[in-house]
Amino acid sequence: MAQSFTEENYLKHIYKLSKKSDKGVSTNALAERLDTKASSVTDMIKKLAAKKLVNYQKYQGVTLTNKGQKIAVDIIRKHRLWEVFLLEHLGFGWDEVHEVAEELEHIKSATLVDRLDKFLGHPKYDPHGGPIPDSEGNFPAPARVKLDELEVGKQSKVMGITEHSESFLAYMKKVGLDLGVEFKLMERHDFDRSVEIELNGKPVQLSHDVAKNIFVAY
Ligand SMILES: [Zn+2]
Repeated sequence: MAQSFTEENYLKHIYKLSKKSDKGVSTNALAERLDTKASSVTDMIKKLAAKKLVNYQKYQGVTLTNKGQKIAVDIIRKHRLWEVFLLEHLGFGWDEVHEVAEELEHIKSATLVDRLDKFLGHPKYDPHGGPIPDSEGNFPAPARVKLDELEVGKQSKVMGITEHSESFLAYMKKVGLDLGVEFKLMERHDFDRSVEIELNGKPVQLSHDVAKNIFVAY
């Protein structure tokens, strides 16, 4: 039997919350996320467990079964494709697409979604930068470039490094460029390709040797 909207929303939020830790999702965290009572969450979890969509053990939280995960990823795929469609073809603003996509994501027709995906040219990211899984449920690898190739003015975040020497790592730490740290590329000097970034509201200068060894989100 197909799931209801509410059930699909639970699966989606369990999936998203489960990405934030490797433990099961607590019913309290879910209740907070869904803005509902913990007792309603427990009732719904039992229902989902009976449908073999989640595993639930008291005190250990909720995890998705393979079947539950498949549904959750499919909802995320539909949500993000609809956001692209709304923004690019119906004139909705960035700030408006999410709410409408919350409804559209529950339309069941797989043919509709496949045609939407094709019509949009198989986009890999939604308007907020969220990766769009393909019809098999595989997420695209996050797009990344070397910091010395990033467009000036772009907001980005550190995704990795190509230089692993201890002194380089120490330098990264000293300037505050940890993995996942967000910054903005303010300027690139043509004469030596050194860059200036804004990090936590402060300007930081990086040599070309440093910039070319850092992978950042594109
Ligand atoms: Zn959204």
